[in-house]
Amino acid sequence: MEQTMLKEQDNREFSTVKTCLSLLQLPITDNNLTDTSLWNQAITNLKQKISNHNVELWIDPIIYLSMDEDFITLQAPNTFIRDWFEIHYLPILIDEIHSKVGSKKLQVLWLIKEQEVGYLVNEKELSSNQPKELLSKTPALPEPEFGMFTHYTFNHFVVGPSNQLAEAASKTVANSPSVVYNPFFIYGGAGLGKTHLLCAIGHEIKKQHPHWNVVYLKTESFINEYIYALRTQKIDEFRRKYRELPDVLLVDDIQYLKGKERTQDEFFHTFNALFEQKKQIVLTADRYPHEISDIESRLLSRFQWGLTADIQPPDLETRLAILLQKADEKTISLSIEVAQFLALHIRSNVRELEGALTRLAAFANLKKVPLSIDLAKETLKTQLSYGNTLSVESVQQEVARHFHVQVSDLKSSSRKQSLAKPRQIAMHLARKLCQASYPELGEKFGGKDHTTVMAAYRKVDSLNKSDLGMRQLLLELETRLKSAY
Ligand code: ADP
Ligand code: MG
Repeated sequence: MEQTMLKEQDNREFSTVKTCLSLLQLPITDNNLTDTSLWNQAITNLKQKISNHNVELWIDPIIYLSMDEDFITLQAPNTFIRDWFEIHYLPILIDEIHSKVGSKKLQVLWLIKEQEVGYLVNEKELSSNQPKELLSKTPALPEPEFGMFTHYTFNHFVVGPSNQLAEAASKTVANSPSVVYNPFFIYGGAGLGKTHLLCAIGHEIKKQHPHWNVVYLKTESFINEYIYALRTQKIDEFRRKYRELPDVLLVDDIQYLKGKERTQDEFFHTFNALFEQKKQIVLTADRYPHEISDIESRLLSRFQWGLTADIQPPDLETRLAILLQKADEKTISLSIEVAQFLALHIRSNVRELEGALTRLAAFANLKKVPLSIDLAKETLKTQLSYGNTLSVESVQQEVARHFHVQVSDLKSSSRKQSLAKPRQIAMHLARKLCQASYPELGEKFGGKDHTTVMAAYRKVDSLNKSDLGMRQLLLELETRLKSAY
């Protein structure tokens, strides 16, 4: 299971590679294998081993698109069917194909017709009378086992100013489950490492308590499974599974509960039951609990009973460190120059950064050329953000205007609080928003030592975490500066 999940993650990335390749109309490989019969044979054999019902549900919806010496490309109607197929049937098919084509490992590329997880049924449908055969087609849900991505561990998580609080708190939770922070709530934008940390907590707890039942669950799965349990009169089983059995419950992307009133109610009771039994609960969401709309306030307030920690977009150094680590993990030979180039130009989130690295490596591999800045420019054209670098001068001007001081005051060495604070804020914002090193910034702030800028950055950064007023102010200034890009 864990391996499958790991594979799934890789496949998703490769899926982007494939899409990208076909967009550019490059040949996938020079000597295409394209042997449909291999796939058909494997499918025919598989079909003989499973019931017609399962063939209809899980095998028939999968469309085979192509195969070459590295990749098999398949299409699924949605991620749910893909996941089920991947877990239960794909390994059998791949084994059979491998046995015929030799030892070379095939990667599977998925094209998903429907991008988002389409709920198989929605809550409103529950009360309507569905025809029997439709009910029977509602797939049984995959067991939400401890199937977390195996490489999402603390070891593989790069710590920087943007995530150090969340990482430290996650480790505390993992080392003392249910003792310190319960629930623990991690929030932050897409692709910033929430799922990674959530799984890392799970892995660590499992390592220290091998017999504990650590349940990792996507909110979508909870919703789907709940609905399925209601439809099939298995609600008692469902409740036992979530209210009694877990020692630790890790729920990813809780914002998807929004608008799902009945599931929210169920989750409320699940939460209470586990909490009363002193079971650790960890939740993630893409925003701060109270900013999630359409979720009952009794739930939102519970989410904050313990500790909430946010993850911010990583700064340049962290992006660089993440890239180097990912390259190492994927055994991609990446020079520091190319890494710097990517880290400088891909600033949105870690997933994109990682995706860019994978794509670049795939291109280099296909073209049989080394990874270079030129290749990066060529292959990542649409992803790289050029020309919108904010200048240090504009940050200084905006901050000076806000605090009614002069830019020269920001460059001075006066220690007056009324000047030191705006100066530190300007240094922090310049570091965060402009692509400038600490020594360069020192130079632009009146020839100061780089350690002064560094200290200012850290000070404001820690205030950003502890002082709501400071956070508000930084957000306001940052938004204003970004809109002036
Ligand atoms: P989220 O759940 O916040 O959308 P993920 O946890 O899925 O993001 O992270 C996206 C990708 O980025 C994953 O492959 C994850 O391993 C990687 N990632 C994010 N932050 C870090 C980090 N600090 N160090 C290493 N990898 C990271
Ligand atoms: Mg996630």
